[in-house]
Parts: sequence; C-alpha cells; structure tokens
Amino acid sequence: MAERKKMTLTVKVVLGLVLGLVTGVIINTFLSDNAFVKTWLVGGIFHMVGAMFINSLKMLVVPLVTFSLICGVCGIGDIAALGRIGTKSFFLYVLTTAIAISTAIILATLIGPGQGFQMEGIEVTKVAAKEAPPITQVFIDIIPGNPITAFANGDMLSIIFYAIMVGISLLMIGKAVRPVVEGAEMLNEVAMKMVDIVMSVAHIGVFCLIAKTFSEQGIGLLMPMASYFLTVLGALAIHLFVTILVLLYVFTRFSPIVFMRKMRDAQAFAFSTASSSATIPITLRSVIERLGVNNSVGSFTVPLGATINMDGTAIMQGVATVFIANVYGVELGIGGYLTVIGMAVLASIGTAGVPGVGLIMLAMVLNQVGLPLEGIGIIMGVDRLLDMCRTSVNITGDAMVSTVVAKGENKIDIDVYNDPEAGIFDPDEELDFDDEDEKEFEEIMKNKLT
Ligand code: ASP
Repeated sequence: MAERKKMTLTVKVVLGLVLGLVTGVIINTFLSDNAFVKTWLVGGIFHMVGAMFINSLKMLVVPLVTFSLICGVCGIGDIAALGRIGTKSFFLYVLTTAIAISTAIILATLIGPGQGFQMEGIEVTKVAAKEAPPITQVFIDIIPGNPITAFANGDMLSIIFYAIMVGISLLMIGKAVRPVVEGAEMLNEVAMKMVDIVMSVAHIGVFCLIAKTFSEQGIGLLMPMASYFLTVLGALAIHLFVTILVLLYVFTRFSPIVFMRKMRDAQAFAFSTASSSATIPITLRSVIERLGVNNSVGSFTVPLGATINMDGTAIMQGVATVFIANVYGVELGIGGYLTVIGMAVLASIGTAGVPGVGLIMLAMVLNQVGLPLEGIGIIMGVDRLLDMCRTSVNITGDAMVSTVVAKGENKIDIDVYNDPEAGIFDPDEELDFDDEDEKEFEEIMKNKLT
C-alpha cells in the first residue's frame, strides 16, 4: 500500500499528460468549431489554470535559487572548489551542446529533410527576427549593476553571480554572520517546502497545459513537416539515450537506468511547461533529493545549466539549418556547418530557458550563414511540440552534468543515488503537518511572545 502511495506523483503527472493529450486531440478533431469549448474551456479554464501553474513554478525560482546557492557556497566552504565546479560545469555544458548539434547536423545530412519540399499548402508565418544579445553583452550583464533589478527581472546569470558573492562574503566573515547563514538555510527549507506544495497539484496544471496545446495544435499540421519533425525527434532520442547516458556512465560509472528513472518527474514538468527556467525547482529537487547530489554543487549547476545549456535546442537548430538549406537549395559546406555549431553554442549561452527562445536564437544562426529567415516561418507551426520535447532533453543534460561534477568533487551520496525510494515525492506524507514539530513551534512562539 505504502509502495503504491509513493508512486502517486509520477503516476498522476503522467496521467495528467496522457489525459491532456487525449482531451486536446479530441477537441482539435471534433470540437474545434464549438464556440463554447473554444472560448470557455480552451481559452478559459485550460488557459487560466495552465498559466496559474506556470506562474506558481516561476514564483519558486528566484528565492529557491538564491537561498540554495547561498547555502551551497557556504556549504563548500572553499572558494577554490567553487572555481573548479564552475570551470568543470561550464566546460561540460559547452561540450555537450557541441556534441548535440553535431549529432543533429550529421543525422539531418544523412536523412536530408526538406529535399524536394513542397511549399504549396504550407502556411508560412511572417517572422520578425529579434536579435539575440551579443556575447560580449552577455558577459557584461552577468554582473548586475543593480541586484534588485536583476532579482525583479529574474536574470538568472546575474542572480547566480550575486548569490555567490553573498555566499563568499559570508564565508570570509565567518563566525560573526553565522545567524545569517542559518537564516538562509531555513529560508532554503521553506523554499523547498513550497516546491512540494506546488508539486502536489502538478497533475492538474500539466493536464490543462497539455490539453490547451493539443486543442490548438492539430496533428494534421505535422504531416507536411514530418521529415523535419521526425529528424529532430530522432536526434533528440540519440542525444538523450546515447550521448547523455554514455557520458554519465563514462564519467561516473553510475547506473544510467536509475538516472533516467529519477529524472522522470522533472522531464514531465519540462515537457508540459516547455521552459527549463520554470522547471528549475523540480530539476533541483530531483538532482539533490533523488540523485543525491550535494546542494553545494546542485544549487550552482542546475540554474546555470537551465540558462546556458540547451542541448535539445541546439539539436533543433542543427536540423532546422539543414532543413532550411535543403528547402532553399543552398549548399552550406563544412565551413558553414562549423559556423552553425559555433553560433548555436554561443547562442545557447546567451538566452534563458523559456518557451520558443530556440527559434529566436535560430535567427541568429541563420543570419550568420546567410540562410533566409523566412525559413523559420516554415517550421514555426510545429515548433511548440518540439519545444516541449527538447526542453525535457535540455534539463536532463543539466542533471547529467550536475551528477558528473558532483562525482568528481566527491559531493554525491551514492546510497541516495542507488536508493529507488530516495526523495520520492509523496503528497500525503510530505504535506502533513508534523504534530510534534508543530507543538514545539507553538511552545517557542509562546515563549517568545510572553
Ligand atoms: N524552451 C526551451 C527551454 O526552456 C528553449 C527553446 O528551445 O526554445 O529550455
């Protein structure tokens, strides 16, 4: 019974996903002309509840990252180790992104999506290409001129930078600021508890998000784009099941099956929200509590990865570039492809993990190799579905790098990693108020107030 109860979150979220998909497809196929369904159900309830769910996830991100990072830095207690963790994770993030896009380009060149592509009947959306920020500006912006603005805007790299600075300063002062460190630890606990609260209603949010997406996105839309769509999915699958798992095994010798099983919740959240940033709380929870990565590593590598590491996005860009080159009959050559790889890696560093950002970055890549931006208009129609898939790959890559870096630093609890029950979210148990703790808390408050 207890075993069954413990499975509830994953089962519920997957159920929400599947029911949402079925509901969405039924609405799209049979009820798309029904004004009531369109306005009240899809545009009303599904939209509202889905957006409330995304907002409640986003609400968790900034405080959670800040407090867990401050605690993480204080937990390491060694500034040199911090530098090592930073360098290793940055290197691994860049490496995995480069492997991802190379896989995509090779697979797309072999399959050749877009060759003999029929433009008739395809709705080409007009694209107003926004430019991604220049890489120099990205580095400048890491240091927040005004931390309050950075926190208000949720600028992840600046927040990471500032929280690390606070942590380092606390470490340098030492004993005198112990209460501040303890305060940060307590606030971190509170932030983590809020993650649990949001997770306990996740299945409803997931259902609404997926039902809305599939109500609006007909499967029929995919047909003319099947070769592109399937090539992206194929490259994502290779990266997820081969590259990520092989790297994990080579660097850690840990079981890839356990890793994948423990990442399921986070993958489902990423799939439903199409945002690595909004999924940070769940990725962080999975990495720390399920995989056993120490907070001192996870609190840094996870938010950093959600911002600079986008393997799935790079894969989409690789396939999209080959596809667009084929559609317009442009020969890119080795030099062109190398430029694409470099640009995609740089672009992924400079943009946050939010829905659809991959397409904005693609404009930058296409510009660089002289391909027409209208190409983006062709693939835009199927991008949402691919966005959901690639975001799941993005966050799995973040978790793999976190595990590898933690292993290298001896900051992972292998017993937790191997324990199938570790960190499993059980809504009933976790959200119960602990009677004893509550009584103790009441006592403390009484004594304080009298
Ligand atoms: N939605 C992706 C993410 O948040 C980015 C993208 O590919 O558009 O990771």
